[in-house]
Amino acid sequence: MDTTPALALATAAAAATAAAGPTLGPSPLALGDRQLSLQAARTAIAAALQPVGGSETLPLLAALGRVLAADLLSTIDVPAHDNSAMDGYAFSGHQLHSDAGTTLQAVGMVLAGAPFEGAIRPGECVRIMTGAVMPVGLDTVVPIELCAVAGDPASGLVHIAAGALRAGENRRRRGEDLAAGKPALLAGRVLRPADLGLVASLGIAELTVSRRLRVALFSTGDELRTLGQALEPGCVYDSNRYALMAALQRLGMDVLDLGVVRDDPAALQTTLQAGIAQADVLLTSGGVSAGDADHTRDLLASMGEVVFWKVAMRPGRPFAFGPVHAGGRSSWLFALPGNPVAALVTFYAFVRDALLQLSGATPDPLPVLQARSLQAIRKRPGRTELQRARVSPASDGGWQVQITGSQGAGILRSMSEANALVVLRHDQTSVAAGELVDVWLFDGLV
Ligand code: AMP
Ligand code: MG
Repeated sequence: MDTTPALALATAAAAATAAAGPTLGPSPLALGDRQLSLQAARTAIAAALQPVGGSETLPLLAALGRVLAADLLSTIDVPAHDNSAMDGYAFSGHQLHSDAGTTLQAVGMVLAGAPFEGAIRPGECVRIMTGAVMPVGLDTVVPIELCAVAGDPASGLVHIAAGALRAGENRRRRGEDLAAGKPALLAGRVLRPADLGLVASLGIAELTVSRRLRVALFSTGDELRTLGQALEPGCVYDSNRYALMAALQRLGMDVLDLGVVRDDPAALQTTLQAGIAQADVLLTSGGVSAGDADHTRDLLASMGEVVFWKVAMRPGRPFAFGPVHAGGRSSWLFALPGNPVAALVTFYAFVRDALLQLSGATPDPLPVLQARSLQAIRKRPGRTELQRARVSPASDGGWQVQITGSQGAGILRSMSEANALVVLRHDQTSVAAGELVDVWLFDGLV
């Protein structure tokens, strides 16, 4: 990221705050913070970001999951010729009678990949296979199962009953799949298997995709130990870095692991500078909650235009976002709360789509599933609550959802057991057993 998007961010954040309605009021903890809804935070982030740009050209298969950098125009018509959609007999459709059957003389055979060279006269037809090029002048195919051989099988007389089909049926038109010169795929598409097949159908072997976004990641906290280290009293293993690196990998990011940083402004500054020098985005966890925030906040205030939000959500209230600068370069900082579940949930809620946007992607919105809650769920209006849950098929053909155990923000086990998050919307109140609730499935989310 080379430009300073601070102005856009400030404007977007102001708009988001306005959209969130009244703030929490005079708590000293709220001083300098913005209290906003999950949706308002998402909107503010989206409004601040622009794709980072840059592209590379890759062999077709290597482009799976990457973002198409420019519209891909079809170079040819697909299919290149009118061809048969069925196994049957091709003929000229104006010979069909509306009130009586039609009898035609078969004069040859046409296979896929071997066009018919001869001329076909009125009253004649040719045996044709699916995908074979329609002989010149013929426009209709009667499927084999809709016609009868008339008289002696050796005679080659084919009878079509009255009303069995209409002129022009069962012919695939040249260019009906893709027309030469028209866009086959639009820029911003996250390439899926069918897209690669489509590109191959054009005879194109390489694709130009956006370069991978470089995301530098570190965890903060004096208590954190890295795998392989001994766990002294009062310490915990750094799990966020692994969960977040895995989520970043799934999203196709180029991940730079900057390890664990102690709760020390000088160490934090050094690591931030190293990250800004190398990455488009810095992703941190820990150190943004009220207890830690002061030194982090002062440092970040000196390095950029980071806003500290108290998002009205659970888990995951503290969250900081904005541009940071060092050595003439800038990066976007996303600072997640340290509690392992809060870190992952805020990653899904705010960072996932932001990274796709920075990568130039225009993905479809993730589908929200409606599932029947198997239990009553207590919910306070005025914040979005996300509960770990398992979605499973219900006996009535729909979906049902069960909350997975304790919902403490640090309890990763209930996140690991879950396959989805129940999303209880900002204004929603408690849910009764049997009510439908919104669900974000993990599959597709990461
Ligand atoms: P913090 O947001 O730094 O106040 O951390 C909140 C809680 O999350 C504390 O109990 C931390 O020990 C824990 N925590 C913070 N970072 C991590 C991490 N990377 N891995 C596991 N737990 C963490
Ligand atoms: Mg901490």
